[in-house]
Amino acid sequence: MERFLVRSKPPTTSAETVESDNPVPPKEKREKTVSRQYHESYLSYGFSWTGDVNIPQPECVLCREKLANSNMVPSKLKRHLETKHPFHAERNLAYFKRARDLNQRQQDRLLDCVKVSEKAMEASYMLAELIAKQKKPHTIAETLILPACKIIAGVMLGPDAANELSKVPASDNTIKRRIDDMSEDIEQHLTEKLQASGRFSLQIDESTDISGAAQLLANVRYVDGDSIKETFFFCKEMASHTTGEEIFKVTDNYLKENNLCWSMCVSLCTDGAACMTGRVRGFIAKVKAQNPQIVTNHCILHREALVAKTMPPELTEVLNQAVQMVNYIKSRPLKSRLFSQLCAEMGADHQSLILHTEVDGCLGGKSYPVFTSFGKSFWNFHVNTLSHIRTGSRMRAGAPGWLTLQTYLGISTS
Ligand SMILES: [Zn+2]
Repeated sequence: MERFLVRSKPPTTSAETVESDNPVPPKEKREKTVSRQYHESYLSYGFSWTGDVNIPQPECVLCREKLANSNMVPSKLKRHLETKHPFHAERNLAYFKRARDLNQRQQDRLLDCVKVSEKAMEASYMLAELIAKQKKPHTIAETLILPACKIIAGVMLGPDAANELSKVPASDNTIKRRIDDMSEDIEQHLTEKLQASGRFSLQIDESTDISGAAQLLANVRYVDGDSIKETFFFCKEMASHTTGEEIFKVTDNYLKENNLCWSMCVSLCTDGAACMTGRVRGFIAKVKAQNPQIVTNHCILHREALVAKTMPPELTEVLNQAVQMVNYIKSRPLKSRLFSQLCAEMGADHQSLILHTEVDGCLGGKSYPVFTSFGKSFWNFHVNTLSHIRTGSRMRAGAPGWLTLQTYLGISTS
């Protein structure tokens, strides 16, 4: 029996036991370290083995019951056979061998059905990456992309190719998990690069999304080898207030989570809001308390947005009229439909307007280039429908100078 007992550690010699400060009781140690090994002769009792090769569990080939490793002795295996399978107690070794091989074949077939091949896994990851880049919902893979691929493959290559595509995991949960995996991987790589670089600069801004939640966004610029790279750093939702202290807390926590520190941040770019630039409680003041050497500057895009707010009176008037017209059309479904019809008839580049928003200077500006591209459609619509929007303006909308100024605005804000 001794050869069936494998000890994970060699037995302690008497000299070592004397040297040890806390000798383990011999009985307890024996119970923890002994594992019984399987022998081919146990098959005559109807038992195969499963589990870890170091601690195998006896498994009955007739009922597939798994016993504890401590039962790996002929007497206990024989007792199982005689009590649970009395009709098979007199069977010979060949019978149990056939039963074991049959079990193995069934197990292999089942594994073949559920196993995801490496190629299918790779395809699943590439599909998830494509969906994430296109900003499409996770469900599109199983509701549209995979069925479409199966149809195309079925028609072009045959039904076997279509069946092969069924092996690609594409459920919404799988796609979400893949995107999360890739996101974590990208974040980890970026963190490693920042740690290796030792220096980086941050651009931080806070904005409100369409659901009303405050989002803190950060971009980072760092030295990567021989080049300077700029990439997205993080986006964190701010649960309550958007004060300088809260912004600092969220940013500081993120840096600490990724083993980065403020002494590595050499430059900081923000907007000119009070929560950022406040002398005592502002975000910059909090950062300077951590790193007095940091260089801070006011974002050039925000400066441009501020300049645009104090335009000459003529331009301001034209801009306000244009915004008024856009919002007038967009807020009335009938006017929107008539406007689209008119645009289609006159061959304009676009047929629907973008709602004007002042959330962000960069985003709000998108409506102007589109606005100017409508050409004559807008003037005709204005003359027929919107002529009441004059509000005592010095320059009447639609006049030659008005169009020039509007075009200038469209170019300057694009
Ligand atoms: Zn059994």
